Amino acid sequence: MKQLNFVIENATGLHARPAKVFVTTAKRYQADIRVLYGSKKVNAKSLIAVLGLGVAHGGKILVEVSGADEDLAAEALQTAVADGLGEGDQTPALAAPPQPAVITNGYPAAQAVPNGLRGVGAAPGLAIGPVFQMRPTAVTIAETFAGVQAEQTRLSAALAEGQAQLAALRDQMQVHAPDEAAIFDVHRELLTDEDLLEAVQQKIQAQQNAAQAWQAAIQERASLMASLDDPLLAARAADIRDVGNRILKLLAGEDAAGIKWPDHPVVVIAHDLTPSDTATLDPQKVLGFATAVGGPTAHSAIIARALGLPAVVSAGAGLLEIGDGTAVILDGITGIIQINPDEAAQTAAQSSQAVAKQQEQEAKAQAGMPAITQDNHHIEVAANIGGVKDAQNAHESGAEAVGLLRTEFLFLGRATPPSEDEQFAVYRQIAEAMAGKPVVVRTLDIGGDKPLPYVQVPPEDNPFLGERGLRLCLNRPELLREQLRAILRAAEFGALRIMFPMVADLSEWHAAKTMVDEIRAELNAPAVEVGIMIEIPSAALMADKFAQEVDFFSVGTNDLTQYTLAMDRMHPSLAGKSDGLHPAVLRLIDGTVKAAHAAGKWVGVCGALGADPQAVPILLGLGVDELSVSVPSIALVKAQVRTLTYAAAQKLAEQALGCGTAGEVRSLVGN
Ligand code: PEP
Ligand code: MG
Repeated sequence: MKQLNFVIENATGLHARPAKVFVTTAKRYQADIRVLYGSKKVNAKSLIAVLGLGVAHGGKILVEVSGADEDLAAEALQTAVADGLGEGDQTPALAAPPQPAVITNGYPAAQAVPNGLRGVGAAPGLAIGPVFQMRPTAVTIAETFAGVQAEQTRLSAALAEGQAQLAALRDQMQVHAPDEAAIFDVHRELLTDEDLLEAVQQKIQAQQNAAQAWQAAIQERASLMASLDDPLLAARAADIRDVGNRILKLLAGEDAAGIKWPDHPVVVIAHDLTPSDTATLDPQKVLGFATAVGGPTAHSAIIARALGLPAVVSAGAGLLEIGDGTAVILDGITGIIQINPDEAAQTAAQSSQAVAKQQEQEAKAQAGMPAITQDNHHIEVAANIGGVKDAQNAHESGAEAVGLLRTEFLFLGRATPPSEDEQFAVYRQIAEAMAGKPVVVRTLDIGGDKPLPYVQVPPEDNPFLGERGLRLCLNRPELLREQLRAILRAAEFGALRIMFPMVADLSEWHAAKTMVDEIRAELNAPAVEVGIMIEIPSAALMADKFAQEVDFFSVGTNDLTQYTLAMDRMHPSLAGKSDGLHPAVLRLIDGTVKAAHAAGKWVGVCGALGADPQAVPILLGLGVDELSVSVPSIALVKAQVRTLTYAAAQKLAEQALGCGTAGEVRSLVGN
């Protein structure tokens, strides 16, 4: 065993970034590493634990390292501390997190509209009804102490029940939103955090009852996390609070929601909704929801779309001033919430709701038919899926192909990567579920906002501009090789295609394609189409070069918009401006389509823009060959295409390319 003494010279001590750098360094090694501070001794690989030490500036810590690679680990930790743990020699105080100018009192400055508010449409549909505000409920905690053993038993029972609830939520979400389902696995993991449980046990030993002990331990950890200048860690604070509340309610004997719902259907308003709040909304009681903060790519918005609940996010502080029982009309496409609408407005909304419902039914009845415009132009409508169940749903819902299989679902929420055989089995099942229809399998797209515990990436100031997607996989060729082997082995069971995410330049494509060719030769596997995502502006601008070599392109408008407009796709107050119908994004798509077609290749769009009713005619008019959309949108997109003519769509697209702003493009299309 090696022992190291350090004095933490960082201005804020072992908090925030320094703690993250310390823990990330420790995690790169197999050795068992413990940090001793005062009377506390914690696991150096648990961020919650290290933050929980509260090591201040000038604090002295002792680090014990034991294991096969202890020398290397000790040296790395020594270097990391000597280098200022990510803060350089001057160890400056952490700057306050940048506050976006448009945020007032922590809320986005929502636009006022006559008799209402305008937020950001997050899930389509109209909700008409009285408002009900979901306020965070204060859980009442008893003061009585039933003895150490009894309190420990209560805690274990609550944790077990919490695990069961989360597993059920995960399974329920898996069907509609597999990507989001993984969040509940993260919550389950938090419930087993050794440091957290240890802290609770200590408090119980000190005569606090289980609920008091749990609440205090959660609060300490969540506030530490929330104070960090790192959005990823701040988001973990929300997760800790969310999962903490779940257990607290169980300990206090309250039901999971703890809310007294009115006995009639309501439009829910809230400051924000956690993923578990959203996933447990009862569609019988809830017509739709609006939140004061949050972006359309937040977990709650994605879950709302999966559940078919109309939703508006980022509506500003004014939203919470709407009294319970006030009638509203919430429009999940435009983001407008009309307050106390007059009778005429209510009648009009009800009839458009009825028309939309009928159109939806008609669209579903025709879902098996191709999407052909009135002047006989066919555009393929495919599905974005995240797992085997999705593939079955997609096949039954009229998908002509899978345009995007997000393989991350196989890798997230677990401690080790899935084996080649495990991956093979899943890809094979998906290929078979699609019964010969093409399936575009996107290789692992992690990093950025989707870290994996077993793929260590050094701390990054801008993870979205860091090691993610293909560039991360090329730095870990074994991970990519295993995945490619699994896909190519499964290729004989269906029409699998391979697609690489986040390609920035030709050299990355060459490296990845060479790997495919080598593995295909090794396995004697069938030829498969190999393409790339166009989601980085450099790739769109170089589309003519790529088009000579790839078999197809698929435009990832979520990232292409983020990188073209330099607007974080998760940013709550930029949500209204970060619009894929921006003419700059459309020009990049236009260039991509022209380059592809000149080389005889096809182009899909697999970002969320492909299902936006205002974008469908423009993408069609730009000559996109395939729209890949979430399963519930397939029938609707097909039905919309059937109402259009290709000639008019081409004219519209031409006009859109000449517009100056996304707003102009949207006005051009109308509703
Ligand atoms: C995109 O960026 O548009 C896309 C489809 O990929 P993801 O949303 O998974 O990043
Ligand atoms: Mg992307």
